[in-house]
Amino acid sequence: MLELDNLSVTYKAGGDIPAVRGVSLSLAAGEAVGLAGESGSGKSSVALALLRLLPRSAVVGGRVLLDGEDVLTMKWGRLRAVRWSSASIVFQGAQHGLNPVQRIGEQIAEPLVVHRQASGSAADARVRELLEQVGLPAWRARSYPHELSGGQRQRVMIAMALACSPQLIIADEPTTALDLMVQAQVLTLIRDLIALHGISLLMISHDLSVLADVCDRLAVMYAGRLVELGPSSGDFRHPYSQALAAAFPTVGDPASRLAPRGLAGDPPDPQQLPGGCSFHPRCPVAIESCATSDVQLRPVGDRTAACILVGE
Ligand code: ADP
Ligand code: MG
Repeated sequence: MLELDNLSVTYKAGGDIPAVRGVSLSLAAGEAVGLAGESGSGKSSVALALLRLLPRSAVVGGRVLLDGEDVLTMKWGRLRAVRWSSASIVFQGAQHGLNPVQRIGEQIAEPLVVHRQASGSAADARVRELLEQVGLPAWRARSYPHELSGGQRQRVMIAMALACSPQLIIADEPTTALDLMVQAQVLTLIRDLIALHGISLLMISHDLSVLADVCDRLAVMYAGRLVELGPSSGDFRHPYSQALAAAFPTVGDPASRLAPRGLAGDPPDPQQLPGGCSFHPRCPVAIESCATSDVQLRPVGDRTAACILVGE
């Protein structure tokens, strides 16, 4: 369904910023893959590159095959058709993704009218159906975004993404701005809808538990690279993924909140990447050769990981 082949994104802004450095990843039809990593690791750059939504300052390399067609070399007209109808994106902050002065029914109808040439009454009927699918009453079509809660707005974004029945949905931190209870409801909704319609999902989050809940496989990014890729049920092998998984405080345990078992330090500045494995300065188990040898993803058990200490 989707194949990323050595995808790279470099922003030209006061020097080169290599935000994504050779990411290869494929998604089968109906499969849900999670993309995790700290803020700044390049996740959103990957998402935006998939539908060529990056600013002009970004230079994209490699290939993005959507159902066998290269998105990066596609003609503009074809690209417009592919957006929404083959693949659509759900962004993080639903309050910024919706037009504040337009009723949500009109906003959900817009891709239907533009891409499906739907008539007014056909679009209205589809909007009612979509609202129902995302758990909102049909009369909500007449509401403005500010009349909805954060969770309801995110449901509207999902309804928009589903409007033209895409085969692939890219969801970039779809629940990060929501409280935990609403987050769980929205995740359940996403999981049920992709299963019902057989949609492939690339879901991005910094929260591994969110991804493990919904996805069949997980990919972990660090400093623009994939450092691990494997089934979401297994145990992580890369020290970075392990640290990311351990970084969540336990509810009711003040000690874990004050001293989370996360990582010291910040992700590296893409313009000043450390040599060797880019994670070595923060890695709790780094050895001397980590500073010089840069390891590619390699098989270890049920997964692949890019660490000199695991695999062959
Ligand atoms: P994530 O989604 O994982 O937080 P991003 O893809 O947003 O990561 O960012 C990756 C890197 O690219 C960061 O270092 C960020 O500062 C840089 N970056 C993102 N967008 C731009 C842009 N439009 N111009 C310049 N640098 C950018
Ligand atoms: Mg992001």
